Amino acid sequence: MSPPITSQSRYETVIGLEVHAQMRTRSKIFCGCATQFGAEANTQICPICAAFPGVLPVLNREVVNMAIKTGLAIQGQIRLLSEFSRKNYFYPDLPAGYQISQYELPIVEHGQLVIASPLDQGPKKIGITRIHMEVDAGKSLHEGIQGASWVDLNRTGTPLMEIVSEPDLRSAAEAGEYLKKLRAIVRYLGVCDGNMEEGSFRCDANVSIRLRGAPILGTRCELKNLNSIRNVMRAIDYEVERQIELIDNGDSVIQETRLWNADLNSSRAMRGKEDAHDYRYFPEPDLPPLRLTPERIAAVAATLPELPDAKAERFRTQYQLSDYDAGVLTASQELADYFEAVAQQAATLGQPNPKVAANWVMVELGGRLNKENWDIQQTPIPAHHLGQLVAMIQQGILSGKTAKELFEILFTEGGDPLQIVERKGLRQVTNSTAIEEAVDQVLAAHPEDVAQYHAGKTKVIGFLVGQIMKRTQGKANPALVNQLLQARLTRQE
Ligand code: ADP
Ligand code: MG
Ligand code: ZN
Repeated sequence: MSPPITSQSRYETVIGLEVHAQMRTRSKIFCGCATQFGAEANTQICPICAAFPGVLPVLNREVVNMAIKTGLAIQGQIRLLSEFSRKNYFYPDLPAGYQISQYELPIVEHGQLVIASPLDQGPKKIGITRIHMEVDAGKSLHEGIQGASWVDLNRTGTPLMEIVSEPDLRSAAEAGEYLKKLRAIVRYLGVCDGNMEEGSFRCDANVSIRLRGAPILGTRCELKNLNSIRNVMRAIDYEVERQIELIDNGDSVIQETRLWNADLNSSRAMRGKEDAHDYRYFPEPDLPPLRLTPERIAAVAATLPELPDAKAERFRTQYQLSDYDAGVLTASQELADYFEAVAQQAATLGQPNPKVAANWVMVELGGRLNKENWDIQQTPIPAHHLGQLVAMIQQGILSGKTAKELFEILFTEGGDPLQIVERKGLRQVTNSTAIEEAVDQVLAAHPEDVAQYHAGKTKVIGFLVGQIMKRTQGKANPALVNQLLQARLTRQE
């Protein structure tokens, strides 16, 4: 029986993303003003930022290096000749009346990025059409002065990279994976802090649908005002539903820009194609074309760190981790470094079992950090302490239960793991006499269960082990408990 043909399966979703990433340079792209976020309004500006007549821009070398770095990281082609253009439009936050951007000859072309396909169909390549450099505008403010609007030019001149994907994404989930991967890459590179809430990593989503198998793309809408990955995904799902409904009703999609409203969980039209600007682009006369040498590109290439995919591959082979674990642990450089420090510490103290280290980092620590809404940089447990904890499990000093107890103390109070184990008496009882005593007591207290065991209901063993663990306050070595209990029961037969 074939599944019913629903609208969802009749249509295919097509998505292309444009990401604006603020580059983490100390100074702006065309002047020496600072780029720090959150400074008092209009304290980080100069005549270039304010576009006084007669000023001349001077290109920041570091901006170019960061764009090259990003281009190499996404396996793009770095153009030896690129140029800046003027994009003319009027807006109060743009004192020059034009934005300096790259148009026809961007610095990077033809890149790609690999995402884990959410439907478990293996890795999928997403094309990156181009990366270009441009300046950010200021901010119009409508609060603070009664009855007036004003402008803060601190952000004017902040360097941006615009990273444009091919329309290769096929679902909101894939768009989410793409953004996570891209954000991880720019963070690994140190070229952008990736903060979507503060607007230093902004995404516009272009969405269309078409009948499955149709040879050409449908009409797209552009979604703006998406300040988290979750919102990007929700806005795409909403847009797909909206377009399917239009087409199923015999209407057609109109190309327009739509604003997402996260509170209402819906979008509204902002402007249509008719009001699309004519930007009258022309080459920027105040800046010479940008010429790069292969030597300069090679010098930047030499500074590239190990990137998420390569690191995940190394984690799989070096630590025998699953694809999933390797993916989670390489989501950020900080998490990856933390895991490696834990695994190394555990390995120097005992038999290395990186899977145990991985679990403690991902499950126990990850879960606990989540609860506090902290990320790995805010962990109260230094990696070498968690490494000691893992080593003590491997050495049989801690049981699963006492390890969790120690973990909680380390998380809330901190301290030296070994000293805490001694002070709190968490050391696992591996002494057989003590355990045998507990076994005897439990068997004497539960004669019915013992009888059931001898009658063939061997499942009661689990209950008896539990009782013995309870009697030893979880400190008995479970393997030893099992062994001694079995021996005692057999002797009784
Ligand atoms: P613009 O500059 O007008 O936004 P671009 O050609 O630069 O137009 O495209 C912007 C983004 O839109 C790219 O990421 C591209 O992949 C995507 N895109 C183009 N056509 C479609 C379509 N029909 N459906 C979905 N995305 C599209
Ligand atoms: Mg666009
Ligand atoms: Zn300035």
